[in-house]
Amino acid sequence: MQPKPSVMDLPVYVPGKSASEVKKELGLAHIVKLASNENPFGTSPRVKEALLAEMENTSLYPDGASQALKTALAEHLQVDPEQLLFGAGSDEVLLMAARAFLLPGDEVVMADRTFPQYKHNSDIEGAICIEVPLKDGVHDLEAMLEQVTARTKIVWICNPNNPTGTIVSDQALRTFLNALPSTVLVALDEAYCEYCVSEDFSNGIALLKEYPNLLLLRTFSKIYGLASLRIGYGIGNTPLIHVMNQVREPFNTTRFAQTAAIAAIEDQAFVEKCRAINRQELNRLCTQFTAWQLSYYPAHGNFVMVDVKRDAKQVFEALLRKGYIVRGGHALGFPTSLRITVGTPEQNDGLITALREVLDAIPERG
Ligand SMILES: *Cc1c(COP(=O)(O)O)cnc(C)c1O
Repeated sequence: MQPKPSVMDLPVYVPGKSASEVKKELGLAHIVKLASNENPFGTSPRVKEALLAEMENTSLYPDGASQALKTALAEHLQVDPEQLLFGAGSDEVLLMAARAFLLPGDEVVMADRTFPQYKHNSDIEGAICIEVPLKDGVHDLEAMLEQVTARTKIVWICNPNNPTGTIVSDQALRTFLNALPSTVLVALDEAYCEYCVSEDFSNGIALLKEYPNLLLLRTFSKIYGLASLRIGYGIGNTPLIHVMNQVREPFNTTRFAQTAAIAAIEDQAFVEKCRAINRQELNRLCTQFTAWQLSYYPAHGNFVMVDVKRDAKQVFEALLRKGYIVRGGHALGFPTSLRITVGTPEQNDGLITALREVLDAIPERG
């Protein structure tokens, strides 16, 4: 047996520890997970109701075309239903983009550091990844443009960027898109767009009218709180979505995911509430960091990357022993930072207390 060369040395994804694993290992009664940007308020109560009703149909295949969900989402977003494509999380949508567009030796351009799945899926297809350093935690679109050649097939842009939480301004994005050859696909990952309140943040759907080479990646995993069900989507112009559908597995999203997503869309009051509380709590965390003279990147999603001026692994482990799971920057290329998901007000209170104790116990790095 001989796997393809691009796959031979690829690492297998190692997920962070789950709350129940940590509980067991450390003998803790209570664990707060602020590591994966999940919604601390769960999901709309309507979702549970819809899922229970859907149990009746467990033995039936889902609608491969996701027609009901497509109609509901198109109405909500004010796009044509044929501009939508669903995947098992937006992870699968970006996999489909890589699968449909990349041949071995093609080039793709992305930021260094950004969401790892762009590189992972591009690597599998044998593409060459050109990684362009962030500038102050922000995508450096000018430098990325300079890396575009006749071999470039996809530019990946994460907005807001995971792990830094920063956004590119609408102006910078438009300048980039205007200068880019329209033969290059731009995959614009907007997993956290519903949390964004900045006036500088682009309206991705408006951009689609001007740029036929644009694909938006979105998800029900974050503000909608459906991470466990694996459902995300792409929005693009019809010819692009048609190509993506050509590589899509026939039943790639489940009945439960589709049903839950429809119920979640119908409860925009829940989304509004999550957005408002997130903004308030994010401000509160940042005010606290400033008071402690810790710097952080301007945060536009439901997480913040803060420089704790200490060895990230040490701080991460000390917080873990107090029952708080965050994402240590040592695993993300930021050796003295933490990426912290915004929790509920009570969770954030606890995090602030625990972090203060940990910072007092660990000396600053010289
Ligand atoms: C969480 C996340 C996703 C996708 O998640 P799915 O659960 O696969 O929809 C995509 N991009 C970024 C930047 C994310 O943080």
